[in-house]
Amino acid sequence: MTEALSASPFNADEIEKIRRDFPILKRTGRGGRPIAYLDSSATSQKPACVIDAEAQFYRHSNAAVHRGTHLLGDESTQIYEDGRHALAHFIGGASDEIVWTKNATEAINLLALSMGHASMGRGGAQAAPLRIGAGDRIVVTRAEHHANLIPWQELCARTGAELAWLDLTPDGQIDLNTLSVITERTRLVAFTHVSNVTGAISPIDAIIAAARRVGALIILDTCQSSAHMPVNIAALDIDCAVFSSHKMLGPTGVGALWARRELLEMMPPVFTGGSMIAGVTMTEAEYMPAPERFEAGSQPVAQIAGWTAALEYLSGWGMSRLEAHEKVLTQRLLEGISQIPNVRILGPSSAHERIGVVSFAVEGVHPHDVGQVMDAEDVAVRVGHHCAIPLHTFFGVRSSNRASLGIMTNNEDVDRCVEALASVGRYFGGAR
Ligand code: PLP
Repeated sequence: MTEALSASPFNADEIEKIRRDFPILKRTGRGGRPIAYLDSSATSQKPACVIDAEAQFYRHSNAAVHRGTHLLGDESTQIYEDGRHALAHFIGGASDEIVWTKNATEAINLLALSMGHASMGRGGAQAAPLRIGAGDRIVVTRAEHHANLIPWQELCARTGAELAWLDLTPDGQIDLNTLSVITERTRLVAFTHVSNVTGAISPIDAIIAAARRVGALIILDTCQSSAHMPVNIAALDIDCAVFSSHKMLGPTGVGALWARRELLEMMPPVFTGGSMIAGVTMTEAEYMPAPERFEAGSQPVAQIAGWTAALEYLSGWGMSRLEAHEKVLTQRLLEGISQIPNVRILGPSSAHERIGVVSFAVEGVHPHDVGQVMDAEDVAVRVGHHCAIPLHTFFGVRSSNRASLGIMTNNEDVDRCVEALASVGRYFGGAR
């Protein structure tokens, strides 16, 4: 049983107002009831202001950015750069340290590929600090999403560096007794702020301190935190962080890499072509400074307009209030699920140590069957390995179900989730 938390800082009117802002909540599911959407970790639903901002861009300002002197070109460039300011403001960074990418996965790959290019000698003398090779180490954790694991596996394979990882306690939290894997030869520590399977919040200060002691670069994956709690880059001693618009109420198709100016200046470009060059001959090119150096080709401007609206929306409600609101719902969900026989929650049992991402395994019932029964009740949860196979292996399961909360989740959604899950046991074997 979790320790009691205080009530949600959102009153009933505010919760209703939020729900009215999400047009998708008006539709019904296969069972004819409104959908209880508990899959915000996979992708968040979008408030009307985000949908409108994207549509308004195409209706009113559509043009290529940084490429024309006409009015529409100026407006779209303004929207594009305003988005950079908005994200910088939201995370407490500087706008010229924000690089647009397609998603968070691409942002992580951008850094890993750039380090790979540096290791092959690209980028000149300024890229020298990024070169890695045999004997060097990259450290991740066993709790990573594949997006923050496989790019580092690939980088190690290309450079001869070795991959090591922080391990986990039995309830899936990062085990600080394994910090010793961060050795003198560690060049980079990449870890998630919050697990997308267990919702566990990483012991960020301890990991950062260990990485700093050996001079390693630090990259933080904020995909599961940045829409649920305040994330202030300026307050964290890290070098790099990745963000995903579609998990933050924004559109798909855009993400961002934030990196310290000094790091961006060291990094050789990865994607090359138009919009990132200062000069070109038939045999070579001179590149623009960061961030443009990393933004080759046409960019997702409409999506950036939508993401900007999403950031304003989240800020309007207040990230600290949202965090407190979701904590209360998380506790309700954990308590509800823990009453159901034969259901095992993966990860910490206390809402204090985690956010509202709750994966579970129902003994003797395949997660797909669980998902289908819940869907028949119009409760949408995720099924599968959630792109975290090593973490599932650690828990001794191949896959699981995951219920995850977002700003528009209310008590009724949580209760419907618990009821639908309770019905799974009845459906598949009577008195489970
Ligand atoms: N990292 C974590 C922790 C995630 O949960 C996800 C998506 O589920 C990603 C990275 C990848 O994010 P994107 O979809 O923006 O590539």
